[in-house]
Formats: sequence, structure tokens, C-alpha cells
Amino acid sequence: SGSEAPQTRSVQTHCPYCALQCAMTLTVTSWPDAADDYAVAGAEFPTNRGRLCRKGATAAELLTRDDRLTAPLLRGADGELRETDWDAALDHVAARIAALQAEHGRDAVGVFGSGGLTNEKAYALGKFARTVVGTAQIDYNGRFCMSSASKASTLAFGLDRGMPFPLTDLDDAATILLLGSNVADTMPPFVQHLQGAREKGGLIVVDPRRSTTAALTEGEAGFHVAPSPGGDLVLLLAVAQVILEEGFAAEDYLAERVDGLAAFRRSAMRWWPEQAQTATGVGADLIRQLARRLGHAAARARAGGDPVFILTGRGVEQHRDGTDTARAAISLALLLGLPGTAAGGYGTLTGQGNGQGGREMGQKNDQLPGARSILDPADRAHMAEIWGVDEAAIPGVGRPAAQLLHTMDTGDGVRGLLVHGSNVALSAPDADRVVENLRALDLLVVADFFLSETAAEADVVLPVLQWAEEEGTMTSLEGRVLRRRRAVDPPAGPRSELEIWADLARRLASVLDFPIEPAAVFAEIGRATRGATADYSGLDYAALDDGQAAYWPLPAGAEEADEEHTTTDEPIAGTARMFRERFAHPDGRARLTDIRAGRGIAPAGRQLVFTTGRLMEHYQSGAQTRRVQELHAAHPEPTLQLHPAVAAQFGLAEGEPATVTSDQGEMTGLVVLDDGLRTDTVFAPFHFPGAGTANRITRGLTDPQSKMPEFKNTPVSIRPAETL
Ligand code: SF4
Repeated sequence: SGSEAPQTRSVQTHCPYCALQCAMTLTVTSWPDAADDYAVAGAEFPTNRGRLCRKGATAAELLTRDDRLTAPLLRGADGELRETDWDAALDHVAARIAALQAEHGRDAVGVFGSGGLTNEKAYALGKFARTVVGTAQIDYNGRFCMSSASKASTLAFGLDRGMPFPLTDLDDAATILLLGSNVADTMPPFVQHLQGAREKGGLIVVDPRRSTTAALTEGEAGFHVAPSPGGDLVLLLAVAQVILEEGFAAEDYLAERVDGLAAFRRSAMRWWPEQAQTATGVGADLIRQLARRLGHAAARARAGGDPVFILTGRGVEQHRDGTDTARAAISLALLLGLPGTAAGGYGTLTGQGNGQGGREMGQKNDQLPGARSILDPADRAHMAEIWGVDEAAIPGVGRPAAQLLHTMDTGDGVRGLLVHGSNVALSAPDADRVVENLRALDLLVVADFFLSETAAEADVVLPVLQWAEEEGTMTSLEGRVLRRRRAVDPPAGPRSELEIWADLARRLASVLDFPIEPAAVFAEIGRATRGATADYSGLDYAALDDGQAAYWPLPAGAEEADEEHTTTDEPIAGTARMFRERFAHPDGRARLTDIRAGRGIAPAGRQLVFTTGRLMEHYQSGAQTRRVQELHAAHPEPTLQLHPAVAAQFGLAEGEPATVTSDQGEMTGLVVLDDGLRTDTVFAPFHFPGAGTANRITRGLTDPQSKMPEFKNTPVSIRPAETL
């Protein structure tokens, strides 16, 4: 009979993982006598055009895992984590925070956030940290992600929107210079936007590895340049040298729209291609070939031809000189007259699901919502009014993420830490030290939906809702604000972080009006960011709910009905293309500057460099994707990729375990031979726990401008291991 037929319903939402935020339809099938089934399928959206990668396609499994956390866990005197009820868990957390702060001061408790949190949660976390906990010590895992490009964009353009143009603009490109990004593995649906450039022979990939993306340049599609890890900055300066020397610079554009050319010229002129060969590991001829290809393509683009884009990813940004490297890429784009014109532009490919929104909402140690400065009196006054607090009560600048996690053992670090949406035990550099520090804390509270490696160290674990179980907005890598929707009923037990912070606000500070409804928080974000550099004030939650995915800023009446570059009928709302009239510095001009290369250059004589990255099957620390059967089966163990010549030299064999050692620690993985790697480079994905934790190798060195740790360039030695 009809009553026994399964009922199905479908909800339009977006992928739980990366910043491409592919659109998907989540279909729920309810059976009369069995648990609901969930299935996802790609949906039409300009970034993915109906496609999903393997991670997105298997995401529904996250909703049915039986190791899902459903009750709060509290560590007993015997050291065991045991289930408890919410009141007991939150009473304990509030009492411990109060006691630690009474004894050691407000900054004794820190808060760690995430680029995976929705905009509403990222905003509420910053507000919670500064107005309820009253601590300056808040930062987030985006510090490890795109902080260098964010800093570089802010310095050069006066504003940080990762891609200040629609992703679909790439479709028409004549040339795309892609540095340090393996999109073919990390976000495969992105590759369709490289197709136009490939067909014109214009895809240029810069990567020490012949990655899946670098392989897309084979044949007539373009070419691959493989600098040594850390060689990117000098490579970019040497390319700029040729652009300047051979007359490819866009003189009129530079005169009209850019300051600082003389200073930048000085930095570039230090690096003749012949001088750059040793520091980059790239021959002078190839450097000149790259520069001339770019120079000619940009000249054609400025004359009305197909555009030229320069894109960076973590490969060039996760360095101790990552800001300078991203700045050099931006400088090259400015020299060629691209940003803010129809001739092309510069963009960074943000990785985390809400990498863009997460960095605009006030989770950063030095920023208030809207990317406002925490030191600016007017910004502080604005937020004090929105939050209903005294301006003097808003704390100052806290420690950036790596320092926050590395200084707990110094005596003046935090003694309590609340971690939300982040698995720092695997994702932070010098991971052994981080784990020791987490263990030594007086209070570690971790909110997550699985028992991540970080949660396993906690005194209190708070189970939270995930992805398709709750409402919220995300901002994709191209600055579009979109809706993630509640599609399924969560299991009994987990709560939204918004509810948890409201509850703690009541317990800690008698605050009764901490908002918990995403729509109400979004409205507050609009008020908080009105007039700020990242201005969400014109965006309307109801319109987003109706299917609009709008670019910020969206000034009233300024909707741009531009369907030319999308595959859907949906008009593009908001400012899709930025900087067309002016850059965001007060005088409207972009900035070039003197960039000194040096910090990241390898010392002569080192033999092997360790660099980290990602696999197609896993996302970030793997806390979610390692739990999805198909993804786990595809790549279950930690691996070390190296050139066959390196394997031969060190007595290593394919499929056998090997151990890599640095000054920080060691990791063990199974050897994968890859002749697409340089003979000075060992590559490991950072998705795996235990002995296979790649960040046990990486150092606490950080970029002085962005505080980005050095993830890509660590001297190591390697030897065979007995077991994995
Ligand atoms: Fe798309 Fe990224 Fe999800 Fe893959 S992980 S489906 S590329 S959003």
C-alpha cells in the first residue's frame, strides 16, 4: 500500500568540505521500518556545474556514522573520558574557566576557531571570546591556511577577497599562471575552469611536484615549472625582472593606478634569471620563457584579447616568507596591468569550506568582524556599540595560532583552551609539541562531531551538529555568500555551537541575549560589518534562502545582472568584479613595494626537503574523510612520496615503510615512488594521525607578517623503517 512506500525529499545545499562549495542535492529517503537513507548528487552552480569530487560525492556517509559523538564527554579522575549530561559538562567548563581566570587573569583562557565554521558561528565565536570570556587569546586554523595571501592582498589592494572576480571568468582565459595549487586533486570540479586556457596552450603550473594539476599542462596545454621548495619568491622576482627589463610592464596602468613601482623595481632587479637559478632550481631560459609568455599574453589581453590570471595556493603561501611570495605574485599581476580590469587579475584559491567568510568574521587575533582592526578606535567603538559593551572591555591583539599553541609551555601561555572545528593535534606545525602542550593544559574543551585526535586529548568534549543538520551561511572562495541548509534531523544529543556559547554566556557572564538563531546572527553580522572592508550589510538572509548566492559587498540598488559568465540563469548579485574603478586603499591606488627574498632560500648543501600537501581523497586533517569507507579504502595509510633515485640512494623500496626525521620530530609512512618529484624533495600528505602525522616534522617558524607557519620547506633525513 501507499503508506508503506518510502518517502523522499530533496534539499538544495552545498558540500561540507572545501571552499569551492559545490552545490549538491541531498535526498532523504524515509522508510516505514528502517532508518532514513541519505544520498547526494551534484547540482547546477557556477563553480561546479553539477559535478562533485569523490569527497563531496560520498559526504552523505558522514551523517550515518555510528562513531558520531552524541553525548558530552568528561574526563574522570582515572583519566578516562565518560559520557555525561549537558548541564554537568557546561557547569564544569564554566567553573574551570572562571577559576583559571580568577587565578591567572582573563588571558589564561584561549579560544581556537576554524575556517570550517559557518559565518554565523565564526562571528559568534569572536563575540563570545571577547565579550564573555573576555580574552585577547583567540585565533583560528585559517592562520595555517590562507593568512599569507590574505595579508598580501590587504597590503597590495587594501582589501582581502580571495578571488576578486567570478571563478567563471577563468573559463575565457588565454593564460593562467597557477602557483602552488594542486586543484586537480584538492577540488577536481575546478579543473573545468582551466580548460579554456589549456585549449589555448596557456596553462602554466608552478609546483615542485609534477602533481595531477601539473600533468594537465602536458602536450600542447602549457608547461610545468618545478622550483625547489621555497624557491617560488625568487622565481616570481626573476620573472618580474624580465617583464621590466624587456618592456612588458603596463606603463599606463601602473602610472594611473599603482604606487611603489620604483621600490618594486629595485627588488626585481636583484634577480636576473641567471642569478636566480641556484635559489629557484629553475634554469634561466625557462624563467625567461615563462616571463615572455606572460608578457605577450598580458599585452594581448590589455588590447582586448582573452584575459590572463595569476592564481596562488598554499604551496607558495605556507612559507616563512609566504606573504612576500603572495605579494610578489600580486606584484607581477600589477606589473602586467591585470587586477581590476577586463584583462584578468590575481586570486588566491582558499581551501577551507568557509576560508573566506571565516577570516572576515572576527576570529583572527587582531581583527573584529568585517576585517576591522582591533586596534582602530573607530572600529572598536562600532563593535562596542553592536555588542553592548564598553569599548575598553574589548581586549587587544592576542597571539596568532602557532604561538598560541606553542607558548603554553612557556609559563605565560594559556592554561585553558576551547577548540572549535579544528584538529590542531594534526594540522598545527611541530605537532608533538602541540600535543604535549594540550595534555599539560588545566582545561581543554573540544567541540566536534567525531572524536578527532584533538578531542581525544580533551578534558571535556562537546558533541555538535554538523553540516546538513543545521542552518547557516558560508562564503565561497570567490566571495559569494551562500546557504547551507538543514536537510536531516540530527541525532538526539548534539547541539549547535551557537547554543553552547549562549549557554556558557549565561553561566559565565549572566548574558541572556546571546543570539542562537542563524538568521538573527546574520542580521547582526550585517550591522557589525556595515562600512567595513568586508561589508555584509547589504546581504539579505531571506534572499540567500531563496537560492541567491551573492557576492559581498552588495550595496543597496547595486545588483549587477551579469549572466554572461555563468551557466545558470541566476543573475550575479553583489560586486562580482572588484577594483574596476579603484582599489580599496583610501587613495584608490594599489601598492607595490620592495620585496627582499632571503628567508626562505635553502641553505646550500642540504640534501632533502620535506613538504606537505593534500590527497584527492582526504580533506584537511582527515578527521571526517578518514571515516568515509570509500575514501579510507582509497588511501588508508600515511605515505611518503619520493623520487626513485632518492629511494635507491637511501635503500628504500616502494610500499615499504620509511621514517623521515627533522629537528622537530619524525614521521613514518609507506614509500610511494614518483618520478615527478624533484630529487631533493620528500612529499607527505598531512591527513594521517599517529606515527604518520606529517606535522611532527614541520617547524614552529612563522612568517613575520602573516604568522603563517613554514609547512613546505623543512630539511630532513630519511631511512628505512621496520613497521608503519
Ligand atoms: Fe566540491 Fe570541494 Fe566538495 Fe569536492 S570537496 S565536492 S571540490 S566542495
